[in-house]
Amino acid sequence: MKFGGTSVGSAQRMKNMVALVAAEGNVLVVLSAMSGTTNSLISISQSIHDAEPGNARKQIDDLEIKYKDTAAELLSDTELRDKALTYIDEVFSSLRGYVDRPFSIKEEKEVVAFGEKLSTNLVSLYMRQIGLDAILLDATEFMRIDRNGEPDQNFIKEKTMETLAAHPGHQIYLTQGFICRNMDGEIDNLQRGGSDYTASLLGAATDAEEIQIWTDIDGMHNNDPRFVEGTTPVSELHFEEAAELAYFGAKILHPTCVLPAKHANIPVRLLNTMEPEAPGTTIYNAEPTHTIKAVAAKDNITAIKIKSSHMLLAYGFLRKVFEIFEKYHTPIDMITTSEVGVSVTIDNERCLDSIVRELSELGDVTVDHDMVIVCVVGDLQWENKGFEATVVNALKDVPVRMISYGGSNYNISLLIRKEDKIKALKLLSENIF
Ligand code: ADP
Ligand code: ASP
Ligand code: MG
Repeated sequence: MKFGGTSVGSAQRMKNMVALVAAEGNVLVVLSAMSGTTNSLISISQSIHDAEPGNARKQIDDLEIKYKDTAAELLSDTELRDKALTYIDEVFSSLRGYVDRPFSIKEEKEVVAFGEKLSTNLVSLYMRQIGLDAILLDATEFMRIDRNGEPDQNFIKEKTMETLAAHPGHQIYLTQGFICRNMDGEIDNLQRGGSDYTASLLGAATDAEEIQIWTDIDGMHNNDPRFVEGTTPVSELHFEEAAELAYFGAKILHPTCVLPAKHANIPVRLLNTMEPEAPGTTIYNAEPTHTIKAVAAKDNITAIKIKSSHMLLAYGFLRKVFEIFEKYHTPIDMITTSEVGVSVTIDNERCLDSIVRELSELGDVTVDHDMVIVCVVGDLQWENKGFEATVVNALKDVPVRMISYGGSNYNISLLIRKEDKIKALKLLSENIF
């Protein structure tokens, strides 16, 4: 069971989530930081990095008050409350230790890790207060990423099983989402929203019966509820559909968190802590439904077009193009081709100048910034008729830069301008659902 930021966002929310855990029993629980905390820790890091110590200290003081208040409200047992306050003192005095010291990305990762450490510490003390048989495990002992920043799944499985075996027989095992170590043994993390990923990696590592992602909404909706009104939850998704939606912007799931569950064939359920009886969404090897399930959008996309008459009737041209992206460790999301050109999209402009310089040796290069991929997901096998027409027709008043279909059985992706995103999402909902 994984609980997100809102689900541990206050003393009362922590009590509610513990009640859900207690009702389940025999469970591994993964917690995020309290909502807002990771953002605050990033902002504190930014202030330290920018040599604004006063600003950093003020934010640290404010955050400390929030944790002391939460501990006071959560823990009525004086001994446990004192333990929590001592721990909070320790964390905040280490945080203050970072101000006025050389501060690099390594220190920033240590700072952002405090959020999950604080939330799990408070919840474990509360579990003890109400007499639950719970044990707190340190995620940095069994969660590790490799040199590419990818989870080291063999290590995770081995170490997790070892750690569980060292503490046999408890009803509840509690640990931090998001945080891990890297190959140099330093504190690191699984990127923003990474607690979902921790949960699915641990579900796969322990061969769990089910992975439950508890959040602040009743499952995966058929469109982004932050931009479109009247969206509704999708009751079932195939692993591939959920993976596409998460990767292409459905914020409810970390972009790659479906993959470990998919490989281990463990169902993932998305559930609402504020409405625990709601059925939510179940992600599994669902049967094809011959329907479109949902729409999502991914921001900050750059489109690159390479046009060359050398491509005409030639072979090896695409390999040369792709090798340049490989050289600069820049993944490609969408591709479309014609006889004389190819367009690709990337979501990371870090090496854009070098990429464009090298691509220019192959042909004329044009770059469009601030684009958005809109992804329509469902049972889109090519034998199913009419879905492409519905999607394209829905967007007939929106300029579309690229369309990609046929790469998988589950999606149609369209590239549009950032300023057209909300209009496009609304039009798709109106026309499809
Ligand atoms: P948590 O803190 O529990 O991890 P997140 O904020 O990461 O929660 O994810 C839940 C949020 O995702 C919802 O509140 C909603 O605003 C947003 N969201 C974006 N797209 C979708 C979607 N298709 N279905 C449901 N929620 C979505
Ligand atoms: N606390 C981390 C974040 O805000 C991880 C998570 O919540 O999943 O990104
Ligand atoms: Mg999240």
